[in-house]
Amino acid sequence: MRIKDEAAHANTIGIGGHIRPDGDCVGACMALYQYLVKVFPNKRIDVFLEQPADVFSCICGVEHIRTDFCTDVESYDVFFALDTAKERLGGAEKFFADAEKTINIDHHVSNPGCGDVNYVDAQASSTSELVFDVMDMEELDVEIAKAIYIGIIHDTGALRYSNTSPKTLEIVGKLISFGFDFSEVIEKTFYQKTYVQNLLLGRALLESIQFMDGKCVVSGLAKKTLDFYHADSKDLDGIVSHLNQTAGVECAIFMYQTGVQEYKVSLRSKGNVDVAKLAVFFGGGGHVRAAGCTMKGTFHDVVNNLSLHIERQLKAAGIL
Ligand code: 5GP
Ligand code: MN
Repeated sequence: MRIKDEAAHANTIGIGGHIRPDGDCVGACMALYQYLVKVFPNKRIDVFLEQPADVFSCICGVEHIRTDFCTDVESYDVFFALDTAKERLGGAEKFFADAEKTINIDHHVSNPGCGDVNYVDAQASSTSELVFDVMDMEELDVEIAKAIYIGIIHDTGALRYSNTSPKTLEIVGKLISFGFDFSEVIEKTFYQKTYVQNLLLGRALLESIQFMDGKCVVSGLAKKTLDFYHADSKDLDGIVSHLNQTAGVECAIFMYQTGVQEYKVSLRSKGNVDVAKLAVFFGGGGHVRAAGCTMKGTFHDVVNNLSLHIERQLKAAGIL
C-alpha cells in the first residue's frame, strides 16, 4: 500500500495509536501526521494519543495531538490505527469504529489486522519502519525522518534487539542522512532518565527476585510507591529490559499496580520463551520477546499464574 493512494480521496483523516504510547507509537503517529499535513495541505488531519512522555516533545507537531480525544468531525473518511489493534486505541476507538475506511499499520504478532486495509508485518522492527515503507521518499524531510528514527530506536533498544534487520539498518541509514543530530536524539529520548526514574529503577532492581533456577526474574512496584514519587507509567519504561539483562535469565517480569488487586505486567524474553503467547493467554499481546497484559490478583497470584506457563515453555525447550 501507499499512504498517498489510500488517503487521496479523503477530506478528513484521523490517526490513533495505543494507550500509554511508547516511542514507536508516538514516532509512527507523528511521522504519519507530518507526512499527511505535508502531502495534503488542504485536508483535515487529526492525531489522537494519550499525552506522550516529555522526552518526545522534541518531535515536530506533538503540540497538535488531541490528548482530550475531542473532535467536531462526525466521522473520519479515513482513520489510521498505528502500532496496535483497535482494542487498545483508547479514546480513539470510537473514531476508528465510525470511520468510512480504516487502515491498520502494525508489527505485533498478536494482531491479525483490524482495518479495511492492513499493513501488518510481525517481522518488522517497529511500526515506524512500516510507516517509512508506505511513504514516498521524496516527500520525507528532516522532521519526519527524525520521528521515524525515534520510533525505530525505541522499539529496537537502540538497534540492539534481534528485531533489527538489515532492512532496518538500511532505513536508519537513509533517515540519518537527513542530518538531524541522531546521537543527541538517542541520548535524550532513550538513555536519559530523570532522577525519579532512576530511583524507581533502583528500587525495582533491588527488590527483584530470581526464581526457577535463576531462569526468571520478577519485580513489582506498588501503587503507594508510585504515588510517593509522584510517578506514572511513563516513568517505568526500561525497567523490565534491565531485569532481562540479568545473566542466566530467560524471562523477566515487571509489574506495577494499577488498582486494587490489578497489575500492568511487562514481559521480556531472551528468545526461548514466547512471551507474546503468554500475554495473549492473559488477554494482552505483543511480540515473542516483548509483550504485556493486565492481570488481576495479588503480586504473588500474578507471579504464580505466569510462572506456570513460563515453566511449561522452558521445559518444552529443554532448558529446565
Ligand atoms: P511494554 O511491556 O513495553 O508495555 O509492552 C511490550 C509490548 O507488548 C509492546 O509492543 C506493547 O504494545 C505490547 N503490550 C503491552 N501491554 C499490552 C496489552 O495489554 N495488550 C496488548 N495487546 N499488547 C500489549
Ligand atoms: Mn511498536
